[in-house]
Amino acid sequence: MSVRKRRPDDMPDNSSKPPLTIRLCQPRGFCAGVDRAIQIVVLALKKYGAPVYVRHEIVHNRYVVEGLQNLGAVFVEELDEIPDEHHERPVVFSAHGVPKSVPADAQARNLFYLDATCPLVSKVHKQAMRHQRLGRHVLLIGHAGHPEVIGTMGQLPEGSVTLIENEADVAAFVPEDADALGFVTQTTLSVEDTAGLIRALRQRFPTLTAPAAESICYATTNRQEAVKETAVGADLFLVVGAPNSSNSRRLVEVAERAGAKMSLLVQRASEIPWQNIGAISTLGLSAGASAPEIIVDEIVNAFRERFDVRVDLAVTATETENFPVMSALRDVELTPSDMAFVNGTV
Ligand code: SF4
Repeated sequence: MSVRKRRPDDMPDNSSKPPLTIRLCQPRGFCAGVDRAIQIVVLALKKYGAPVYVRHEIVHNRYVVEGLQNLGAVFVEELDEIPDEHHERPVVFSAHGVPKSVPADAQARNLFYLDATCPLVSKVHKQAMRHQRLGRHVLLIGHAGHPEVIGTMGQLPEGSVTLIENEADVAAFVPEDADALGFVTQTTLSVEDTAGLIRALRQRFPTLTAPAAESICYATTNRQEAVKETAVGADLFLVVGAPNSSNSRRLVEVAERAGAKMSLLVQRASEIPWQNIGAISTLGLSAGASAPEIIVDEIVNAFRERFDVRVDLAVTATETENFPVMSALRDVELTPSDMAFVNGTV
């Protein structure tokens, strides 16, 4: 059950602006995996100096990526983009995980790499490998082209994994042995849609083996749950996040299904389409797992300029997860300003 309370600094003023209640989801924004990945880049920069290379956006958020670029991180899509004269520089793999071929390639090139794959993604990798080791063909429920899906598929030999994106894929799949199948999922999927696909798979393949633990992560589940409760009857629901952020896009869908009249993804306050919003009195607000809190504040402030805002915090879960960085970086101290950046508040 949700507990709603008013933020002490959000008492309504007596201005002539129209009243607006913002239902602010909690939990929202950075998860433990994103926090850890950003920490790894910041710590590597402090320990080894700039440049530190990062393969793929460390997390799917421009604000974070640009902040790290300002500190000396250089983003590349593939390892062969790292110039020969910088081969002694560290390279960080993103939170989404990488196929096995990537660390192998890094070793072949004598690169020093730090793997910022979220431990919960690594857990899915292990579960997929376990299915395969036990002789099962692996069904990966996920979205084609997403780096996490590429990374998970790349843990297994070619031909031993099939991607399932939708019900049509379930219907079209023809296994070699229908009694030797196991599934895992991307960590950031819609809880509801995934349950539907698993049901459809089980109808066709009753002996389908589930992974030892749920693949959809705690952060995805908690953020969707918070949006589900908060979106009911909202005139508008905004999710702070990037278009390539899977978990953020799912939150927009969840808000729509839960009953928000309009639901939008925005990266910054400047993207709010004020002319389309019209007269609203209730706004739902959340942020994807890779979106920093400072953008949430920016959006609340943008509404304050136009409305007499009251913020109601909608608390649906308390998160205490914390993923430590690798031992190679534990001897580096973060200053309070580093911590503020890592936490997404600056
Ligand atoms: S969304 Fe989940 S799997 Fe992805 S980085 Fe965060 S905790 Fe890890």
